[in-house]
Amino acid sequence: MAKMYYNQDINEEILKDKKIAIIGYGSQGHAHARNLKDSGFDVVVGVRPGGSFDQAKEDGMEVMTVKEAAEAADLIMILLPDERQKQVYEEEIAPALTEGKSLVFAHGFNVHFGQITPPENVDVFLVAPKGPGHLVRRTYEAGAGVPALFAIYQDKSGEAKDVALAYAKGIGSARGGVLETTFEEETVTDLFGEQAVLCGGTTALVKAGFETLVEAGYQPELAYFETLHELKLIVDLMYEGGLSGMRYSISDTAEWGDYVAGERIVTDATKEAMKGLLTDIQEGKFAKGWINENETGRPTFNKMKEVDKTHQIEEVGQKLRAMMPFVNQK
Ligand code: NDP
Ligand code: MG
Ligand code: MG
Repeated sequence: MAKMYYNQDINEEILKDKKIAIIGYGSQGHAHARNLKDSGFDVVVGVRPGGSFDQAKEDGMEVMTVKEAAEAADLIMILLPDERQKQVYEEEIAPALTEGKSLVFAHGFNVHFGQITPPENVDVFLVAPKGPGHLVRRTYEAGAGVPALFAIYQDKSGEAKDVALAYAKGIGSARGGVLETTFEEETVTDLFGEQAVLCGGTTALVKAGFETLVEAGYQPELAYFETLHELKLIVDLMYEGGLSGMRYSISDTAEWGDYVAGERIVTDATKEAMKGLLTDIQEGKFAKGWINENETGRPTFNKMKEVDKTHQIEEVGQKLRAMMPFVNQK
């Protein structure tokens, strides 16, 4: 089994006398900044003027421009959207990246695919929580944590691993478990996971199930509950007890259906398609396509976003969730 690190294995003192700049105050940014601050670290947020700048101020953070924060800090964590990182890095961060600083990421995309090439005289590593940023904050506040990966790309100081672990502890991830990886492994598996299972696979499965029921004449509200709403309840059981734990709670009829129907839906062809995704990611084809999509103004991204926004499942869901304030608290 891989070596796991937990709170008691990590001494966070090594990071206590360093200044940490969190660049970006979005999903991951706000969570890292607030968790680290609440854990007693010296944090400054670097972000451009606008919505998140104001939000960071409102949350009581010390806020500066990206350039100022990068200059002020010993450790610079880049939590900007992946496709914006190259430009902001080159213009505002690289000039401030003097010898001995640490350059940190939450995803290996830009370094692994050659978009950002850090200088040789700094530490470079990643700390990647395995969960959405808003849950990184929410679980921390609840006394828990989202597990994370860390990977060392460059260890100039000889302390990169200790600092990475201290950082992971500071955001609460060592309450859940921290695991060492490489930039290649983190990047490939993260992209594969979100495409094949977590996001791409799941949304397509939900839509197909919903459409099948509605096209057969069943009520859309019922189809929504059946294929989207209840998915969370089932996944919660899997999160708590794995596949067996979930199957303990469902009826034997559901469990029998699970065994015999699952392989008719996710077939050998589906697995072949997954292997195709993995190859595209490994060979850089996916990264090239995504970089190109951004350089050309995101025509396909925007079109697909619009199509799904107006999907019937979204319209029905919005009405139903409005009646369940306990579901959508933000
Ligand atoms: P977000 O899209 O939530 O980041 C948005 C933030 O970046 C905002 O504060 C935004 O400011 C700022 N920003 C955007 N463009 C610029 C710019 N040109 N100059 C300055 N600030 C800018 O990012 P995520 O949190 O989703 O992702 C951050 C990193 O974390 C990525 O590497 C991602 O792969 C990784 N990651 C993300 C996860 C997630 O849960 N989302 C999970 C694990 C890793 P403004 O408000 O002004 O636009
Ligand atoms: Mg991920
Ligand atoms: Mg990702």
